[in-house]
This record gives sequence, structure tokens and C-alpha cells, in this order.
Amino acid sequence: MRYCGGCSLSEEHPGVEFGPDGLCSLCRLDAAEELLTNYRYTNEVYQEFRRSGPNPRGEFDCLFMYSGGKDSTWMLDRFVSEGKRVMAYTFDIPFESEHAAQNLELARERIPATFVLDSDDAGITRMMREVFNRPVEKPGKYLDEKLPCVSCRTFFVIRAIIRAYRERIPYIILCADPQQILTMESNVREVVRGFYRVFGERLTDELFRGDIEDLLFAEDRDLPKIVFPFIATRHEYDPDTMISELKAKGLYQSSPLETHCKLLPLLNYYSFKNYGCMFYKLNAASHVRSVRRNKDYDRSTFSIKFPRTLDLVDVESSLRRVVLAIAAGEGEPADHEQTLIDIFQRLDAEPDAARFVARQFLDMRAVAADMGIRLN
Ligand SMILES: [Zn+2]
Repeated sequence: MRYCGGCSLSEEHPGVEFGPDGLCSLCRLDAAEELLTNYRYTNEVYQEFRRSGPNPRGEFDCLFMYSGGKDSTWMLDRFVSEGKRVMAYTFDIPFESEHAAQNLELARERIPATFVLDSDDAGITRMMREVFNRPVEKPGKYLDEKLPCVSCRTFFVIRAIIRAYRERIPYIILCADPQQILTMESNVREVVRGFYRVFGERLTDELFRGDIEDLLFAEDRDLPKIVFPFIATRHEYDPDTMISELKAKGLYQSSPLETHCKLLPLLNYYSFKNYGCMFYKLNAASHVRSVRRNKDYDRSTFSIKFPRTLDLVDVESSLRRVVLAIAAGEGEPADHEQTLIDIFQRLDAEPDAARFVARQFLDMRAVAADMGIRLN
């Protein structure tokens, strides 16, 4: 297997091509053109939202996708303080073990927004079972190794779009981080079409019924627009300042496992089995790329941290062995646990967090059986 000399992505990574110099297309910035177009559109929609006055057609100026994490709490507080009338929309993801529930409670008490909790356990579980169990297309497109995770997010973004459309809310605020820009569409019709392309008409109708048709045939001016505030203001992103501001306002209690998805082990199983890489490979490769370019680089990325020096290929191959062994029911759980704790600590996890996540990996087969996901 050949690995990119700049970032350690493998030549089989979906949607990535190698040049004669041994560098991958992300290191060669082939994606730059597309990124630039996306950033320009994202900035325009963000500026438009900031300038917009009260929504004359309804009681809310925006639907804010609120997870309870630090990024979205900070931005929610900011928009409400600036006078926006906000519906804070939380989708209760049944696979999240730590709900950031404490922070959500603090926000409810202290931020004058209208808080709405939505859920559809049966629907989202049905969709996840489908995405895990069906065969994948090779060689695959950019981010296909993360398809179950991307689909989960798209599922509840569509629920939010439907809600905003029905309640005549013109903007949907999504606190996605800059690495997600290549896959997140600002145009809501494209979000819906993307879901159709992946899941087909039958399942889409089953999950969203007639609501999808209404969206596809609506007038452009009646459709909400998606705003990505953290992408539009990416050069100002400073998590330490945000956390101290939130703490000063009593809006944040830190936890080593702010939001943790119970499906992380299965997400890794999916990416190893189908594409030979770990789930966080793009994030880790982007970190390696930045460190190489700038020796003093220590800026936090949005979703996860990596140590400055990281033998990514080695960490990944250890993780591959243990994940596939657990999935196959082979080997000793105690050995797997120790191997996993070592791997996560090499990835900069705190000891408690490393132990917690290791134990979730050992539970992989039980979670899969529960959800009707086949491991083979
Ligand atoms: Zn590369």
C-alpha cells in the first residue's frame, strides 16, 4: 500500500488521487477551486443573515441547530444577545451516550431562546441499519468512508429543514466546522437530493413521507437557507477564549466526553472493512499536513485533537487489527482493551476517556446486534 508523503492518506482513500510526486490531491490542493466557491457562497449567506431584520412571516428569525456543545452554545448566546429571535432546535440522537445534557440545561435556564427537542429513534435507526448493511460502491467518493456518520447528520438536518419550512423560518444555523464544508450543502434542495441519491425514493418516502415532495416543489423564496457561522468566521476561531467566556457566564461545565457517539466503534469497523482506513483518517491526515507545513502549528481543530507528533500509519494499522478482531469475535477482550487504551492515549486522549472509549469498542458486537447491523 502506498501512502501520501505529505499526509499519510493511502492511495485507496475514497475520492483522493495521487500525483507522480507521491502526493495526494488534498496535499496538491486540487480541491482548492471547489473550496473557494463554497467559502464565497457561505460568506454571502452569512453576511445576508447578519444584516437581515426581523422575519416578517413568522415568530422566529432562525432555527439554530443546537447540540449543547461548546461551539453551538457560544454561537447561540451570541445571536440571541444580538437580538435574533431564535428557535434552538436539538435533535435527540439515540446513539449519543453523553448528551451534553448538562450544558443544554444551563443554556435553557440562561439563554432566552425557544428550546425545541425533536427525535425519531425508529426512523434514524432504520436508516443506519440500511447504510451499514448494504454493499458499498468502489472506489468510492470523497468522504464515503464516513457515510454512516454523514447520513445521520443529513437525516436530522432534513428534519430541521422541514420544521423551518413549515414554520416559515428563513435561516437554519449549523455549527459545522471548516473540514465539513466540502460535503455540507448550503442549498436545502441539494441536501434533500443528496439524501435521495444515497437512499433512493422508497426509503426516503418511508422516513420523511410527503414532506420531502413539498420541499422539492416549493418556491425558492419559501425555502430556508443554511448558514455556517463557524466557516464564515473560520479565521477567528479560538476555543480557549470561547470556553472562558462561556464559563464566565455560567454556560459551560467541561467534561472529557463532551459528546460521544456510541457508534464510533462501528464507524471504524465500516471504514476499515470497506475502505481500509480509520474513521478519523481525513482529520488526522489534515493534522499531519498542517504540522508539516508549519513546524509551530498547534492550533486546535474543531472536533478532535491530535498530538503534535503522530505515527499515523502505525496507529491506524494497530487499530485496524483490533477492530476487525473484535468484530469477528476473535482474541481476548482484556488484550484488546489494553491495546485500545494504548492507541487512544497515543491519539492524545486523557486516561479516563481512553478507558471509556476502549470499553465501548469491546461492546461493538452487542451494539451491532441491537441495531440489526451485520458484522462479517
Ligand atoms: Zn496527502
